[in-house]
Amino acid sequence: MKTLRLLLGDQLNIKHSWFNQTNDDVVYCLFEMRQETDYVNHHIQKVIGFFAAMREFAQNLKDKNHKVIYYKINDSKNTQNLTQNLSVLIEENKIEKFEYLYPDEYRLDNQLKKICKSLNIKTEVYSTEHFYTKRDDLATFFDGKKQYLMENFYRNMRKKHDILMVGDQPEGGKWNYDKSNRNKWKGEVNIPNYKLFKNDVSEILEDINNAKIKTIGNFNTKTFSYPISRFQALQQLKYFCEELLIHFGDFQDAMHTDEIYLFHSRLSFAMNIKLISPKDVVTTVMNYYRKHGDGIDISQVEGFVRQIIGWREYMRGMYWAFMPDYKNLNTLENKNELPDFFWTGNTKMNCLKHSIKNSLDNGYAHHIQRLMITGNYALLTQINPDDVDKWYLGIYVDAIEWVQLPNTRGMSQFADGGKIATKPYVSSGSYINKMSNYCGNCYYNKNKKTEDDACPFNSLYWNFLDDKRTFLGNNYRMGMMYSLLDKMNKTELNNIKEKAKHIIENPNEY
Ligand code: FAD
Ligand code: SF4
Repeated sequence: MKTLRLLLGDQLNIKHSWFNQTNDDVVYCLFEMRQETDYVNHHIQKVIGFFAAMREFAQNLKDKNHKVIYYKINDSKNTQNLTQNLSVLIEENKIEKFEYLYPDEYRLDNQLKKICKSLNIKTEVYSTEHFYTKRDDLATFFDGKKQYLMENFYRNMRKKHDILMVGDQPEGGKWNYDKSNRNKWKGEVNIPNYKLFKNDVSEILEDINNAKIKTIGNFNTKTFSYPISRFQALQQLKYFCEELLIHFGDFQDAMHTDEIYLFHSRLSFAMNIKLISPKDVVTTVMNYYRKHGDGIDISQVEGFVRQIIGWREYMRGMYWAFMPDYKNLNTLENKNELPDFFWTGNTKMNCLKHSIKNSLDNGYAHHIQRLMITGNYALLTQINPDDVDKWYLGIYVDAIEWVQLPNTRGMSQFADGGKIATKPYVSSGSYINKMSNYCGNCYYNKNKKTEDDACPFNSLYWNFLDDKRTFLGNNYRMGMMYSLLDKMNKTELNNIKEKAKHIIENPNEY
């Protein structure tokens, strides 16, 4: 039976059982499409990265004697739409069966279901063989529970997959070393040169320019530095184990003006397009730790493992448990617009300037920059979560809706009313100062609240608590902050609110 198999741009898993044998009756298809480049304005490096990895993957399949149809963005046969591309190919090639892999995005899942309904040939859908968990495992695990706590899910994953376990107890006696993962980086520990690839993408860049795709962010070279093949992804992983793992946990939350990546792995892009699987990553890290782990503390390894088998799988499960409603949640009723400086980095607030510049230049910011700088500011200034989502979904090379949305709307913006985070991740300038060197060189003074040179985060923080009392006043984890707010003298609070109002109404002046 002549079969057409679709591979989406984030389904580049060369280890998939589909590729175990070649078959002349099976044709694989991959399309670069405006449908995908235009649903949000993406970072230029994100579009380049997807196209580069897709082209590399298609070539790899051809080298292994698989039959492949590949449409580049400007190919004349390319209708730029998945439904139409498939329908023409099926007709032209007299295809008798259509097969695809479960998409990770709700949008594409729906589109493919509709396509299958409209076809009068056999269709079948397969697992991507990438994640540890199935789409609905998390919902089943928490069935009947009021709270979907990541920690409970994570402990279950550790037991189920026997990772860092001694019998049924956590290795080292603790499940979580989060508290020892909160050091500020002051330059005392050397950071090795990053592993940056030099993939020549000049042809892709030309294609993107010719297609006039609207992108955001910067790209000043003709080489793309993220891994675009399984081989490169494995090299990046090896580098992480050998050079970065030893301090991953220590400086996981640290931020510094001179350091873009610190001890972070930069593996999210490779993992999200499935060049490597979370199991590849965890197994390699665990093997390295067992063999060469003499100088490596368990807290570094546990901190990393938690991100992969905990947070990453948890976010995906939450996405499938609550979509499509999740995308419209706005519990705190935030309505403001994202300030212009999110697109330029043009602000006197040093923390935001660095985090946004990093994002614009590299399509990257590490977790704490996303959560406690840009996310914190967006929440404190009460930006509409739709705007926040659009920015996050566009700007990061690793941003795909299944992982971006629960992180942004849920964890960072508390728009889900606490499904993911038990309290909003907001802070004044003092947390930012504790974890970074941003405040030292800032135009603003981290200790002031209302003066002209006062750190904007300080007034915004108290104003946010006051404004959102109806939603957050009964949150037991916020009790201490509300009792401090209640003790504040009325005039001081009025002045703070006045200052915050000015910042919110005139964000681009700051
Ligand atoms: P490392 O710090 O080295 O962590 C290792 C791996 O753990 C990452 O590669 C990633 O796969 C996984 N991981 C860590 N934290 C999370 C998390 N919260 N959710 C899911 N996986 C996690 N991650 C994305 O992959 N895509 C996104 O679009 C995305 N958007 C985010 C938006 C916000 C507001 C926040 C707060 C976080 C977001 N994250 C997202 C999670 C995290 O910031 C990135 O995965 C991480 O910064 C990627 O860099 P890294 O590979 O160097 O990560
Ligand atoms: Fe950011 Fe305030 Fe520190 Fe400046 S003083 S870097 S605005 S936290």
